[in-house]
Amino acid sequence: MPTAVCLNCGSREFRADRALAGRLICKRCGYALGARPSSQKQRQGGRRRWRLITALIVTTVLVVLLSRL
Ligand SMILES: [Zn+2]
Repeated sequence: MPTAVCLNCGSREFRADRALAGRLICKRCGYALGARPSSQKQRQGGRRRWRLITALIVTTVLVVLLSRL
């Protein structure tokens, strides 16, 4: 087994996929070895999700604080 690291998840376990002409596919995430992940869109979505979570937490804290007054 080659000591290659998956660019997507960092796993070192690969399997050869005959459907893809024997290319090495990551066992953990299924990403082809040598392919670069397009994580820009995922990062933006993650940021949006964190904004929503932060807004929810801030709103909850505000409601709790206001209800104690
Ligand atoms: Zn992977």
